[in-house]
Amino acid sequence: MIKRIALVAHDKKKPAIIEWAKKHSDKLQKHTLFATGTTGRLIKENAPLLNLTPLKSGPLGGDQQLGAMIAEGKLDILFFFTDPMTPQPHDVDIKALLRLSTMYNCVVACNLATADFVVESPLFEEPQDHTVDFSEYSERIV
Ligand code: PGA
Repeated sequence: MIKRIALVAHDKKKPAIIEWAKKHSDKLQKHTLFATGTTGRLIKENAPLLNLTPLKSGPLGGDQQLGAMIAEGKLDILFFFTDPMTPQPHDVDIKALLRLSTMYNCVVACNLATADFVVESPLFEEPQDHTVDFSEYSERIV
């Protein structure tokens, strides 16, 4: 089952996501990959087998592009290596992306341990059920 997967890392976490992507490139390369601009460029340079579709850089709207994909049901898994120690200029975009991931039941891994769990899980190769039930908010659904 081909999944639509996004790779994103804050600057101090870019070395970690590059190493992680190289380590799991056999598994990742079977899927459709997206990445925010700088993360994608660095992964391509270091793991050329991974065929990524680059989006805009995160602070220039890449996180928002991913959020839109999630809201439209076009993304299955988000690997987002966040840096909890550094203020980010696009903090509101990051919050929005994580909020939409939660809302639309998208698998999200924000650190190395969780990313390993997700990619090693037998469910990684299985079809994914994205069904979400917003009926408790029915007054908002038009
Ligand atoms: P970048 O964006 O890959 O363009 O650095 C990541 C982010 O959202 O900070």
